[in-house]
Amino acid sequence: MTEATGIVGEFLSLKENTDAELLAMQCGDFYEFFDEDAEIVADELDLKVSKKSSHGSSYPMAGVPVDDLTPYLKALVERGYRVAVADQYETDSGHAREIVRVVTPGTLLETTDADAQYLAAVVDGSRSGAGSSGADADYGLAFADVTTGRFLVAEADDSDDALTELYRFDPVEVLPGPDARTDDDLLNAVRERIGATLTLHETEAFAPKRADHAVREQFGTETVERLSVGEPTVAAAGAILDYVEETGAGVLASMTRIQAHHGDDHVTLDATTQRNLELTETMQGEREGSLFRTIDHTETSAGGRLLKEWLQRPRRSLETLEQRQESVAALSTAALARDELRDELGEAYDLARLASKATHGSADARDLLSVRDTLAVLPTLAEIIQSNPDLAESPLAEIVDRPDREAAADLRETLAEALAEDPPSTVTQGGLLTRGYDPELDEVIERHEEVREWLDTLAEREKRQYNLSHVTVDRNKTDGYYIQVGKSAADGVPDHYEEIKTLKNSKRFTTDELEEKEREILRLEEQRGDLEYELFEELREEVAERAELLQDVGRALATVDALASLATHAAENRWVQPNLHRGDRLAIDQGRHPVVEQTTEFVPNDVEMDEDRGFLVVTGPNMSGKSTYMRQVACIVLLAQIGSFVPAKDAEIGLVDGIFTRVGALDELAQGRSTFMVEMSELSNILHTATEDSLVILDEVGRGTATYDGISIAWAATEYLHNEVQAKTLFATHYHELTGLAEELPRVANVHVAADESDGDVTFLRTVRDGPTDRSYGIHVAGLAGVPDPVVDRSRTVLERLREEKAIEAKGGGSSEPVQTVFDLSSGQFRGSASADGGSPADDSGSEPDAGETVEPEAKDVLEDLESIDVNTTPPIELVSKVQELQERLED
Ligand code: ADP
Ligand code: MG
Repeated sequence: MTEATGIVGEFLSLKENTDAELLAMQCGDFYEFFDEDAEIVADELDLKVSKKSSHGSSYPMAGVPVDDLTPYLKALVERGYRVAVADQYETDSGHAREIVRVVTPGTLLETTDADAQYLAAVVDGSRSGAGSSGADADYGLAFADVTTGRFLVAEADDSDDALTELYRFDPVEVLPGPDARTDDDLLNAVRERIGATLTLHETEAFAPKRADHAVREQFGTETVERLSVGEPTVAAAGAILDYVEETGAGVLASMTRIQAHHGDDHVTLDATTQRNLELTETMQGEREGSLFRTIDHTETSAGGRLLKEWLQRPRRSLETLEQRQESVAALSTAALARDELRDELGEAYDLARLASKATHGSADARDLLSVRDTLAVLPTLAEIIQSNPDLAESPLAEIVDRPDREAAADLRETLAEALAEDPPSTVTQGGLLTRGYDPELDEVIERHEEVREWLDTLAEREKRQYNLSHVTVDRNKTDGYYIQVGKSAADGVPDHYEEIKTLKNSKRFTTDELEEKEREILRLEEQRGDLEYELFEELREEVAERAELLQDVGRALATVDALASLATHAAENRWVQPNLHRGDRLAIDQGRHPVVEQTTEFVPNDVEMDEDRGFLVVTGPNMSGKSTYMRQVACIVLLAQIGSFVPAKDAEIGLVDGIFTRVGALDELAQGRSTFMVEMSELSNILHTATEDSLVILDEVGRGTATYDGISIAWAATEYLHNEVQAKTLFATHYHELTGLAEELPRVANVHVAADESDGDVTFLRTVRDGPTDRSYGIHVAGLAGVPDPVVDRSRTVLERLREEKAIEAKGGGSSEPVQTVFDLSSGQFRGSASADGGSPADDSGSEPDAGETVEPEAKDVLEDLESIDVNTTPPIELVSKVQELQERLED
């Protein structure tokens, strides 16, 4: 291929100097994509590809009108592309083009999505050597939302923690540190689970000195000390600042504050738990049906973002939570005032976003009007709160008083005096500002209006003066202003009319005077446009300088909105204020699942846990409600720790420092990771990180492997959690063997979800009761699912037989009664429920074997043979005959 020259050559050389995947280059009224870029864009956005010939070669070309670029950019960026934008500008020798911005998922300002849009950086200090001082956390993370100016840093001790933070913020774009490898587990998880675009930003931006300098310059010289964060974190923050600057988003000024998100006041909520509890989306990936969607009644997008943030970042500080509770309590009873507040909030726009737009210089006059109107919401909220005694005494009064109300009123005043009531969306053609705002502008406007008035009335005057019919005055691009006279009257026009065009039914004329007025009005229009734009820019600048104030006011409005949302949900769903304390007791009276109760006639259930009863083994038939019960407990604790009321009749909740779950595994299958491997790595994570103040939910752990393996793992994990970790734990299992643990471990108790069985029919009662159950009712479910009757009947028989054999083994004698058998890990054998060391974990078994009986050597052989049978690989029929054979040998 020959070297491209001309416009395509320019395109290709610009492209060479950017690492963006696509380049949009302005060519007059269009932004054009050439070559491969054209093909990609055309494909993604359904554009037509044409050909551009350039010095003998032909190149694909696709373009969008300059004014339409934004939606196309948005669409490309949302598909994960980074798009460079080159603008055209005039020079002495024609024009030139230059890349002014690189738009990426994390720096897209034009978003219309209400969600936060985080750009993240993550630095692995152990790898880069940045954390070499020893005291620093291994991972440093920084998060910035360019659309609102929010900037946070966080630290993590290992890659799991780092992923937890990343999962919480759900960034759209991630900058990995300079030493990251592409096969890194963490980065893979970011790509696959979070779906973020990974961008390799230049190494120097992460350099400790340079990053430190950037952070101090942006947020103040004392920042690093005040936040007490380590080098990796500073590197991450510095890299983000550098990246935002480099991409040309131009919003650094809206990032007025940096916040550290330290672990100690936050409830640990790992990525798996966030997904398992379906906080923001269901396991199927739908937003509808998530806990957030269910409880969200916010009126503003900023309020929605804040509520979501609360849910993803529950707190441990009793003071913070009680403050929120107080507001929610006051709001939940003050129904009228609450409705007034919410109505008023409905008038508010997204101040943080508007502040970012103002600093970026993309806010138009309507945006500034929105700022004006939203600033007016704050004093109204304050009034409503003051006029209700309950609300006035709640923390709400302080919340709306926190921003500088005087400064906010001043800014509102300024905007109100300046802005016209119904401004156009373009900012260069006048009509933005009111009269009386600027004397010079007033003069121009006055003269402009005069001339316009003269032109508007010209037709009338001409008609009367020259006795003409069918006269109109108008303007268009080619003819400028003209007087148009109907054909029949055209002969009677006065001499000074100069004909410029003949149409089918009319003629167009101009006059010296009209031409002069035309020149004047064009000059005035330009003058007015320029002057207004200049003044408007000053005004926008003024707003940009108040970005921090706008963020404060926005924050106050969002807080009231989020609290009112919690109160609304509580009032509408009969939720109650939980009694929070620092002790161990977790008692929920008639609790319900916050999401399931919305769509189901829900059967409420109690939970009772404390120091002496810290571990519940939950058994019950398939589909009886074990998983729902446990999630309900986790959701209630979580809601309590965002300051919300909870779905129960009464609740007492000892604050936890973390919630850990291991529930289901279906979605992991879809990602091609072995279910069991995932299950075990998550279990391992829980065993490592949970503390005695944590809440642990284990649902069918061990299911992913052969029965004996599974039971053994479940057994050992239970012992470890009980003895070492001592976390509050609920463990649902279909291994009834585990119910025997209650005998051995003092803090373990059995509960089961009850079902009624009569005449072979099972009714789920959905009621949780104390004590174990031994039935899995799997055969019943098989019947429900339509497995043919002969098979169902046969499995009943086989089950009976197997139970009998197990009972015989355990008791060393024949009995036809089904017996609760327990797998004893120390001996590796089954033993009867009523063995030497304890009473029965409640069963329908009637007979009791003798304690401490001795086993004869022949019988021992049989036992050994029994042990060697692999239940998982031996077909049931063969099992039966094997057991029969063993039985016969025993009888001998
Ligand atoms: P398990 O884990 O025991 O197999 P699930 O918790 O998955 O059972 O519940 C099975 C079904 O029963 C679900 O559809 C759930 O909505 C419903 N369910 C569970 N608990 C209740 C309850 N307390 N009240 C009403 N429906 C419930
Ligand atoms: Mg379940």
